[in-house]
Amino acid sequence: MRDHTRLYTDGRWTEPLDSSVLTLTDPADGTRSGSVALGGAADVDRAVAAARRAFTGFARTTREERAESLTRVLAEFDRRAADLADAVTAEMGAPVRLAHDAHIPTARLQITTALDVLATTPFTDPVPRGDGEVRREPLGVAALITPWNFPVLQMVGKTVSALAAGCTVVLKPAETAAHTAMVFAEIMDAADLPPGVFNLVPGRGDVVGQALASHPDVGLVSFTGSQATATRVSVAAAATTKRVHTELGGKSPQLLLPDADFDVAVATLHTFMMAMTGQICSAPSRTLVPRERLDEFLGTLVPALEALRVGDPRDPATEMGPLASAAQWRTVQRYIGSGTAAGARLVTGGPGRPEGLPHGHYVRPTVFADVDNTMQIAQEEIFGPVACVIAYDTVSEAVEIANDTPYGLAAYVVGRDAEQVEDVVAQLRAGAVLVNDAPFDWTAPWGGYKQSGNGREFGVEGILAHLETKVVHRPAT
Ligand code: ADP
Repeated sequence: MRDHTRLYTDGRWTEPLDSSVLTLTDPADGTRSGSVALGGAADVDRAVAAARRAFTGFARTTREERAESLTRVLAEFDRRAADLADAVTAEMGAPVRLAHDAHIPTARLQITTALDVLATTPFTDPVPRGDGEVRREPLGVAALITPWNFPVLQMVGKTVSALAAGCTVVLKPAETAAHTAMVFAEIMDAADLPPGVFNLVPGRGDVVGQALASHPDVGLVSFTGSQATATRVSVAAAATTKRVHTELGGKSPQLLLPDADFDVAVATLHTFMMAMTGQICSAPSRTLVPRERLDEFLGTLVPALEALRVGDPRDPATEMGPLASAAQWRTVQRYIGSGTAAGARLVTGGPGRPEGLPHGHYVRPTVFADVDNTMQIAQEEIFGPVACVIAYDTVSEAVEIANDTPYGLAAYVVGRDAEQVEDVVAQLRAGAVLVNDAPFDWTAPWGGYKQSGNGREFGVEGILAHLETKVVHRPAT
């Protein structure tokens, strides 16, 4: 990996005006993998000024012109896709197969979807009203603050939605996703957009993130991360009344109905939780099981998790890699300790590292049974491979438990009785509900109910979220 010393503003790679250096580590063995120069408030000022200047022209481009720009982004993305995938493996420990087969295609889909929308949806055409009209216009400079766990999807999805709408962009990636962010900025540079349309300022959240959120020339902040940080972003943005879109955490229920197919349930738990070492905001981290089938469920889940190949993310056979950072490793250990202390039954996994993997941020796939929904492990987002199994007696009780959380990002329902499934889907308070083994549609609107965020991103809704409304009143002709 590399030592990154530059950031990208106004179509050029430059040294930060205001810099400190962060050392990056490899999650697989804890060794140094490179470093990144972090920018500061002066770099934000410079990037926002460039984006503001570029906005004047970019806002008035046609949908066809923006599609041409995004077609070049797509070509460069395809050229560098393998580099992006390798960066994700190297810096967040995502298994290399998952990086290539999930992180890259889901991000690519955001670009092709934006191109489809630009080709088919005349969202900026004026709509006549009386003698005048209603117009939709780009909001201005979009500040994009992204997390480390799904870095390519987040950076690409937010950037292309903003650009498709005609906004210009200042991206602040998570500090620890610096390699991925730099490859992405190289892609954007090679796509040859007008200078200032895309800018990258790596930096600390409390410095660069805060400077962006409070900047008077930023029109919108699109943030993905934790609820506590979202509050800081929203407070900083409030003084200038800018729009703030947030996509936050979850404690998503997986509700197994009395006739559920447990193989489907276990496969979903793997895909949406274990495969990412639990570091996914939509992880089905609370599984609600009919009490009379609890032992049967554990009998299906536990052997599947014990057979998971946990190991070096660069090995194509690996099914679960390490956690992304030492801090995350300590957090997960703390939660495992909290589960045991609260009286939950540890069925498999537990504290420490798996045998044979002494270095790096590895944890064991862990299952707690006899979990009460009031326990800390059932209420708080762990961001680790820790499944909480909660037994229920009636389906209405299960729905109540499922909704008994401050979050509302995703929910999973597994059952054969279509009517019962529908009844439960209607009652769940979540932004996305996945039924049985349905394929997940990454172009659908994505966002949460309750404290999982506001607004929706991705697909057409994600683009429309970057528009302002202007009404033109004209005299009768
Ligand atoms: P996580 O706990 O998953 O790292 P965070 O919410 O802390 O989630 O981080 C998500 C993004 O928000 C990162 O890019 C991070 O640097 C940024 N960030 C952190 N603190 C702040 C802040 N005070 N203001 C703005 N952005 C922040």
